[in-house]
Amino acid sequence: MSLGVEPTSGTGLVDSFGRVHTDLRISLTDRCSLRCTYCMPEQGNVWLTRSSIMSADEIAHVARVAADLGVTSFRLTGGEPLLRVDLAEIVSRVAALRSGGAPVEVTLTTNGIGLASRIDELVAAGLSRVNISIDTVRADRFLSLTKRDRLADVLEGIGAAAASSLRPLKLNAVAMRGVNDDELVDLVELAVAHDAEMRFIEQMPLDAGHQWDRSTMLTRDEILAVLGERWSLAPVPGRGDAPAERFVLDTGPHTVGVIASVTAPFCSACNRLRLTADGQVRSCLFATDELDLLQSLRDETLPEADRDVAVETVLRRSVGAKLAGHAINDPLFLQPVRGMNAIGG
Ligand code: SAM
Ligand code: SF4
Repeated sequence: MSLGVEPTSGTGLVDSFGRVHTDLRISLTDRCSLRCTYCMPEQGNVWLTRSSIMSADEIAHVARVAADLGVTSFRLTGGEPLLRVDLAEIVSRVAALRSGGAPVEVTLTTNGIGLASRIDELVAAGLSRVNISIDTVRADRFLSLTKRDRLADVLEGIGAAAASSLRPLKLNAVAMRGVNDDELVDLVELAVAHDAEMRFIEQMPLDAGHQWDRSTMLTRDEILAVLGERWSLAPVPGRGDAPAERFVLDTGPHTVGVIASVTAPFCSACNRLRLTADGQVRSCLFATDELDLLQSLRDETLPEADRDVAVETVLRRSVGAKLAGHAINDPLFLQPVRGMNAIGG
């Protein structure tokens, strides 16, 4: 069997620019309990078919092959991963893997709705950390931004995460001009009160409605200018391959992060690969092409060992074809067809 690239046993997922891929983001569903305007439309969503969504077995299979190829960190995302009833099983099966002889890390990105009642089972299953998204602390604004009246549920989820052993705890907000730009300080204070790090994300052109407009995006520099009026911000050294630039608030210990994918891209240090809920591998959030892994996973004519080789081959092909950067700032940039909810943030 040949899929075009023969796997090279013993080597990691290294692309043609020398970037070593150790982080796999797995989307568990494209569905969600919210409808954040920058992510998906309120109505008219065309959902992935249930039969195309990877099962816990299939996710564990890909994760095992990826761990053997040097992936050490798995982030479960979506859509909303808490909508998967088998989330704890997925966490536990991925968390049981080892990469290079060491345990892997399993983290979750969630809107927090329903987290409170499930956090104990997720911790017991081996979850390492959680990131919770919250763009506003005002109920009316939350409703207009997410089309759902669920701020209290998100806050409950944040409270449960703060009370758990999961650390460091991170909160994410997309910063938007005229939407929540007057709440940046309030959001940092919410995070500090929960022993968490607030991270502001520049809005990216990944909305399913393709309405992104650079002028409504709040830039890294604008975010830092607002925060700088309230706190002194000392850069935290040693960013490594992390997407967030981090700053200590005053004398610490609390910190804030800024993820400036648009105005200060960090592609040259990117170590991330993505797997959509329907088993497509993407080498970049902004990739316009995907490689099908589902077919290899479901090919029952292949013995298990050959299916492993097929999965490895697809992962290597995706990494091998990865471009240097996302080119959002190129005039010829083309937004991916899928919205963020279907790619996995
Ligand atoms: N539902 C979960 C949540 O909201 O955390 C996980 C999936 S969501 C797609 C992951 C992250 O992507 C969230 O922090 C969300 O704010 C962010 N996101 C979604 N659309 C975005 C966009 N257009 N630009 C920047 N960040 C975006
Ligand atoms: Fe759902 Fe997360 Fe997208 Fe909001 S950002 S609509 S919570 S997937």
